[in-house]
Amino acid sequence: MAMIIDGKQIASEIREEIKSEAAALKERYGAVPGLAVVLVGDDPASAVYVRNKGRACEEVGFASFQHTLPADTPMRELVSLVDELNARSDVDGILVQLPLPGHMDESAIIDRIDPGKDVDAFHPANVGKILIGDEKGFLPCTPQGCKVLINRAVPDIKGRHLVVVGRSNIVGKPMAAMMLQKKKDADCVVTVCHTAAPDISYYTRQADILVVAAGRPNTITGPMVKEGVVVIDVGMNRIAHPDDPSKTKLVGDVKFDEVEKLASAITPVPGGVGPMTIAMLLSNTLKAFRMHREGS
Ligand code: NAP
Repeated sequence: MAMIIDGKQIASEIREEIKSEAAALKERYGAVPGLAVVLVGDDPASAVYVRNKGRACEEVGFASFQHTLPADTPMRELVSLVDELNARSDVDGILVQLPLPGHMDESAIIDRIDPGKDVDAFHPANVGKILIGDEKGFLPCTPQGCKVLINRAVPDIKGRHLVVVGRSNIVGKPMAAMMLQKKKDADCVVTVCHTAAPDISYYTRQADILVVAAGRPNTITGPMVKEGVVVIDVGMNRIAHPDDPSKTKLVGDVKFDEVEKLASAITPVPGGVGPMTIAMLLSNTLKAFRMHREGS
């Protein structure tokens, strides 16, 4: 039976540490880290994410600035808001909730955010820093959260074979780049799988560490893993509840009951990677505050 990696507990410990650091910074500078979150439109799921981020900020003593714009806001108004937030000294981090309405150019907005305030780490300057292993940049929140969980579960990581399923810009690619670095807490041999692979089980069966970010339930089943693997399930899929079709259930990408019998450690869904994402957003905002005040 696998050890269950308790992301909820680990995220809560990290948030406590961030709260104490924010209190110490307030003593020193008379200011706290500030995160601005911009929501365009009224997508209910995005509204929940934005609300949760604001609440998480308040819980650790950060300032939170929420900007909600109507769905038909002209692109130039969003650009002006980003410019204003870039210039404000009380805003350390800026997050524009994606997806944006269809008439807006997402990559132009991401490019407009000051890379030093880009706590989502989607700006090309930060993406480049991830690839070259420059620690002055930000790491994207979800793969960074996965890395923290991996580092806790696998202390002797050097030379391990880490297989990532998924190559999205927000999870799969940065995850692979981070774990490839010649650094003490990475230094893995990395394989990335995607839908062009004729049979991903050829790769997943070789994994010492398996990160699954496919966005499809049951992408990984028992016969697709080797005994002792450490499994990080990034997937968040809402499916009809098996016992009551009028309800829904959140599941990951891994067939948990089969894989946990073989794995040495595994993240549950919910309660694994999900809670780590917001903890890493807070951590990036704290880092941004330090960079702005201390230049480090
Ligand atoms: P995405 O943009 O849809 O990318 C999915 C990737 O998985 C693609 O590269 C796709 O390959 C690959 N893929 C899909 N099915 C596959 C299969 N059967 N075999 C091999 N590769 C497969 O998704 P994402 O944004 O990376 O998110 C992935 C999952 O993580 C989603 O469930 C999402 O909700 C979840 N997520 C969770 C958090 C969190 O905070 N917990 C944050 C972000 C995302 P191709 O490139 O060939 O199409």
